[in-house]
Amino acid sequence: MTPPPIAADFYDWLANLPAPVQQARERLRAFLRDEWEPQANHYWERAEFPREYLVGKMQELDLLQGAWTPERAAYATLMDGVLSMELARVDPSLATFFGVHAGLCMGAIALCGSEAQQAEWLPALRAWQLVGAFGLTEPDVGSGVARGLTTTCRREGDTWVLNGQKKWIGNSTWCDVVIVWARDEADRQVKGFIVRTSLPGYSAELMQGKIAQRTVHNGLITLRDVRVDERDRLQRAHTFADTQRVLVTAPSFADMPHETRFAHATNERSRHEPVLASRKHGPGCSCCSSKPSRTTAVGKDGSKAFPTKRPWMISH
Ligand SMILES: Cc1cc2nc3c(=O)[nH]c(=O)nc-3n(C[C@H](O)[C@H](O)[C@H](O)COP(=O)(O)OP(=O)(O)OC[C@H]3O[C@@H](n4cnc5c(N)ncnc54)[C@H](O)[C@@H]3O)c2cc1C
Repeated sequence: MTPPPIAADFYDWLANLPAPVQQARERLRAFLRDEWEPQANHYWERAEFPREYLVGKMQELDLLQGAWTPERAAYATLMDGVLSMELARVDPSLATFFGVHAGLCMGAIALCGSEAQQAEWLPALRAWQLVGAFGLTEPDVGSGVARGLTTTCRREGDTWVLNGQKKWIGNSTWCDVVIVWARDEADRQVKGFIVRTSLPGYSAELMQGKIAQRTVHNGLITLRDVRVDERDRLQRAHTFADTQRVLVTAPSFADMPHETRFAHATNERSRHEPVLASRKHGPGCSCCSSKPSRTTAVGKDGSKAFPTKRPWMISH
């Protein structure tokens, strides 16, 4: 029996994407399939991030054209989700590398920065001439940052002095700029800063021994009296709630695990007996009697709730 094509796109929604999203998706998928997937395990095993190569590829693929501008607004969320899905499908490390730069760092500047800050930073970030990171989590507080964020900022004239640590920060050991969230010693509110990693007092130590996402590099950032100009404080971020405006833009998808499981189950990638082919269905089979068939399910208006029979469906 020839196994059916593998697809985790149950609802066939990839067929209906707007043209710019479809084109970007196809460019990215071709790179991941042809170039990255064959070498992904090599880098995973060594916990190595080939940054010049990957940043160069991102420049070539030009996936951030128009990102965070009105011209992309009509399909921006869809584009972010689709690109993230394609990256995570092959390598979640690349999804983090990309998402931290394009979603969290650029998003913080687009959503919380002034127009002048957007004009200064976004074009170079869009073109991958600069690479960014986003520092919120700390050594003692991850989920608890809302109440427990301990990194401080103190205003001295036109300068802010930052002190504290940020942990797990993707790209931070080698990138050009990090968004740092810190609590103002004066009013106790959380403020955001565009911190150039070349500033005196900034250091980032590579985190070792990860068991997941080994290829992307995460850092433990230490800020010791880092002096940041007032012009680099995010002008439209005033409280911790502003971090959430940025965080909601971070999507996460994974359809590759389904496709891989399916490939094993149909013997395409496994030398073991394929699960689906050997499975007996019929009267008395729990999966046959307990649920309606998805192929015949109909919506309230009588239309089919699911597309016609797809290859991934178990045939009885
Ligand atoms: C690969 C990777 C990349 C990352 N990149 C970044 C980055 O770029 N920038 C950044 O700022 N951070 C980054 N992080 C950090 C990430 O945001 C934190 O790991 C996350 O916020 C969780 O925090 P934590 O690890 O301290 O876990 P904890 O907050 O200690 O949570 C541990 C467990 O306790 C549970 N828990 C926590 N609080 C509660 C509660 N109140 N009630 C019930 N259960 C609770 C959690 O669900 C979880 O299961 C990254 C992490 C990873 C693994």
